[in-house]
Amino acid sequence: MIGELAYYSRMAWGVRRLVRQPAPADPMAALQLQMARRQEHFLDLARRIVFSNPQHPYHTMFRIAGCAWEDLAHEVGRRGLEVTLERLAAAGVFLTHDEFKGKAPLIRSGQEISCGSQALLNPLVRGHLMSASSGSRSRGTMTPKSTRLQTYRDAYHCLQWREFELAGRTMVQVRPILPSSMGIGNNLRRIRFGEKPAKWFAQSGHWRDAGHYRAATHFIVRVAQLMGAPVPLPDYLPEDDFSPVARWIAGLKQGGSPCVMRSYVSPAVRVAAAARDAELDIAGTIFLVDGEALTDAKRACIEAAGCAVYPKYGISEVGSIGSACRQMRTGNSVHVHRDGVAVISRRRRAPLSDVEVNSLLFTNLLPFAPRFLINAEMDDAGILEPVSCDCEYSRAGMDLQIRDIYSYGKLTGQGITLMGSDIVRILESALPQHFGGGPGDYQLVEFDGARQSQLELRISPRAGAGPPAAVRDFLLREIRGCYGGALASRVWAHSGGLEAAIAEPFATRSGKVLSLHLLGSKVEAARVS
Ligand SMILES: [Zn+2]
Repeated sequence: MIGELAYYSRMAWGVRRLVRQPAPADPMAALQLQMARRQEHFLDLARRIVFSNPQHPYHTMFRIAGCAWEDLAHEVGRRGLEVTLERLAAAGVFLTHDEFKGKAPLIRSGQEISCGSQALLNPLVRGHLMSASSGSRSRGTMTPKSTRLQTYRDAYHCLQWREFELAGRTMVQVRPILPSSMGIGNNLRRIRFGEKPAKWFAQSGHWRDAGHYRAATHFIVRVAQLMGAPVPLPDYLPEDDFSPVARWIAGLKQGGSPCVMRSYVSPAVRVAAAARDAELDIAGTIFLVDGEALTDAKRACIEAAGCAVYPKYGISEVGSIGSACRQMRTGNSVHVHRDGVAVISRRRRAPLSDVEVNSLLFTNLLPFAPRFLINAEMDDAGILEPVSCDCEYSRAGMDLQIRDIYSYGKLTGQGITLMGSDIVRILESALPQHFGGGPGDYQLVEFDGARQSQLELRISPRAGAGPPAAVRDFLLREIRGCYGGALASRVWAHSGGLEAAIAEPFATRSGKVLSLHLLGSKVEAARVS
């Protein structure tokens, strides 16, 4: 309770600072400067944060790799940043997602390196608006966001504004309430820029589960309003029903005002489907989506309503990574925000599977980023390649794209991330203990449903588990107790995103039954027997 109060007080303080911060006269100037100095900033961060601190986990990794700061500076000057990062990764200077989360020991050359969750935070910044990965305030990874970072990101807002010619469009967002700060944060930025706040719809779950999050959201909105920022309260959507959003957009369109909608991928798909079902005309709406991979099936569903959809790519722990431009009309591709992040890739076997993936590794370059990560893996895969198109992002120097981005080590249904290892523990131990059976008798399958990411809990008839609904409810309760769980179980319960069935778990061609079966990813789907 005390922790919660402290959390929301800090957030209120962050809101206050952000409201009082004037919009920068030329946000693009800061981005251009950072783009020109990205290598310099990387070296400076490495020197001040890593090489000056023998306790720092990366300090030991660099020592084991035989790389002093002078060597690093020489390499970056000679080969460039990305090539140097690739050589560093090969020499052991990287972090896997499990090492980053503290779920696997960090061992290089037989030496165990101490790496607590605080060790990778950037000591040069302090944050007020905290963002929680996967929405779990107490158990997720908390990321402080400094006011300076928030205002720096104004440049991305400007780029998007120009690229999609958003002036003249009405903004609507379907965003969760607290503990996610996205809904409020988006509106604070708009207000600072003198734009009209976005109409805000939220999925909220039942009062019994979400009552205190609603209360906290109202408190923070009230704080912003008292500071003079007219942030609206969200409209709560009825359970499993996105038609109010579609109706609202159609109403505006009829009045001659086109809309742009921001949300995770799944809600965007649900809104487009609701429009089609109710024969509402929302054609011409631009959907700017994030939080989940935009798969071909989901893109097709949105485009079938006559709308255009463009993904943004970001990871709470890393920051903003890329944005699609108007010309990226297929697949799940983005221009890399090369000013703020360096991205390389390496081939590896995905955890819990026998699939080889092109895993992405991220390095922070912004001096005021919440963390200073070097070659950190986030269990996402994609293909890196140069891109040159006639767009705002290319003109800003973002000449590298990642295409076909997908997540391989975790479930990302409806924008909520759950760690594979946590789910595996529940599926392989907790469920068998409670309902019978053993490892391999319970499997969670994520696949692209017609309208959203669906999860199916498959229960082997062999387990003799009884009614599937009871097993499903137990699973949701267990998920609530682990990383990212509170929000995830609430959202799934709300939107019918998790179904249970007595059915034999899928097996891969090699005969393995994996606890997590990501049927949605192309690679994995091809392997299903
Ligand atoms: Zn482009």
